[in-house]
Amino acid sequence: MNILVLGAGQLARMMSLEGAPLDLNVRAYDVGSKKIIHPLTQQDFGQTLEQAIAMVDVITSEFEHIPDDVLALCCQSGKFYPGKAAIKTGGDRSIEKALLDKTGVPSAPYKLITEKQHLVEAVSLLELPLVIKTCQAGYDGKGQWRLTSRDQLDGIWAEMAGFIASGSADFPHTIIAEKMIPFDREVSVIGARDSQGNVKVYPVTENQHTNGVLTLSLAIEMDNNIQQQALEAFDKLALAMDYVGVLAIEFFDVNGTLMVNEIAPRVHNSGHWTQQGTACSQFENHLRAVAGLPLGDTQAQKPTAMINVLGQGNIPTKVLSIADVKSHWYGKSQRAGRKMGHINVSAANQVELGEKLQQLAEILPEQDYPGVAATAQRLLTS
Ligand code: ATP
Ligand code: MG
Repeated sequence: MNILVLGAGQLARMMSLEGAPLDLNVRAYDVGSKKIIHPLTQQDFGQTLEQAIAMVDVITSEFEHIPDDVLALCCQSGKFYPGKAAIKTGGDRSIEKALLDKTGVPSAPYKLITEKQHLVEAVSLLELPLVIKTCQAGYDGKGQWRLTSRDQLDGIWAEMAGFIASGSADFPHTIIAEKMIPFDREVSVIGARDSQGNVKVYPVTENQHTNGVLTLSLAIEMDNNIQQQALEAFDKLALAMDYVGVLAIEFFDVNGTLMVNEIAPRVHNSGHWTQQGTACSQFENHLRAVAGLPLGDTQAQKPTAMINVLGQGNIPTKVLSIADVKSHWYGKSQRAGRKMGHINVSAANQVELGEKLQQLAEILPEQDYPGVAATAQRLLTS
C-alpha cells in the first residue's frame, strides 16, 4: 500500500521506517519545495502533488500548518485522514478552543484578540500574568509572549499588531490571550482511533520543556486518576472530530486536575518513547489507523525516557554503550535549537531507568541536555 504524508520532516521519516515492515510505502510532500520525495533518502519521485494523490491509497499528514489549496486537493480525493476539521483544529488555536468549549474539556481561560482594546479587556478579565499566542502558525513556543506587567502592554501590542496585519481577508491572523496556568507539571496523552471508532491509548507521559521546547519525556508509572482524565478528554475530542489516526493532547497538571494546553492532530514528539517502550509505536499505530489495519498494543512494556537532541551536530556514540539506549537521527542540516534527533532509554524498573539516565547525564552536557541529571536523581530517590 502507498501512503502520502504531507510534510517531509522527521515524523514522516519515522513513519516511513516503521511502515516498511508492514509493506506500507511512504512518500512525503515537501510543502516548501512542492516536491514528492522519499522521506528517508530524499529521492525526488518527480511527481506533481496531483499525480501523487492519484497514485497513493491513503493520504495523511505530519503537521497541521498545511496550505488550504493542498488540504482541499487531498480532501477531494476522499483518501485523507484525519480529515480537514482535525487539521484546521490543530492549526488554529481559536478553532481548538471552540472545540474544547463545545466538548466541555477543561482548558486555560482565554480571550481572542483582534484589536488593542481586546488585550486591555483580557488583562482585566483574566488578570496578569497572561500567555499570549498567535492562533495560527505557532510551534515549539514560537509566536508567544508573556505579559506579566501592564508596562509591557504597548510593546507587546506593537508586535502583535504586526502579526495581525500580516493576515488577509482569506487567511485572517488572530491572537489569543490565555491565563498563565500555575501548573505542577506538563503531561500528554497520545492515542489512535480507527475508522470504526476503535480506540487505543498510550499511558500518559510526563514532559519537560526548556524555553518552550520539549527536552525530555518520561513514561513511568502514572496516577490512575490522571490517566482517567486524559482518557476521557481523548475520547471526547477524538469522537467530536470523528478522528482517524494518532492524536496527541498536551495538558497542564494543576494539583491533580488536567487542563488541556493544546491538541496536535498527528504523531507527537512526546510519543517518541513508544518506539521502545511499547510493542507498537505511535508511528506504526498512526499508519495502521489510516491504512485500515487493526490497531496495535499501546501498553507500556517498560519504563522509558526520551531525550531530545536540539541543535547538536551528532549524538555522542558513547551513549550506545549503555544497555537499552537507542539513538534516532533525523538527517537534517544543523541549526541552533533545531530538533536533530532523540535518544530513547528504557529499563526493567524505575530505579534502573534512573541509573541509566545518570550514566547518560555523565555523557550529555547539562546545558545541551537539560533535566537528564535531575530526572535521574528523582527516579533514584523516589
Ligand atoms: P508545540 O511545540 O507543543 O506545538 P507551541 O509553540 O504550540 O508548542 P504551546 O504548547 O501552546 O506552544 O506552549 C509552549 C509551552 O509554553 C507549553 O508547553 C508551556 O510550558 C508554556 N505555556 C503555554 N501556555 C501556557 C499557559 N496558559 N500557562 C502556562 N504556561 C503555558
Ligand atoms: Mg505545545
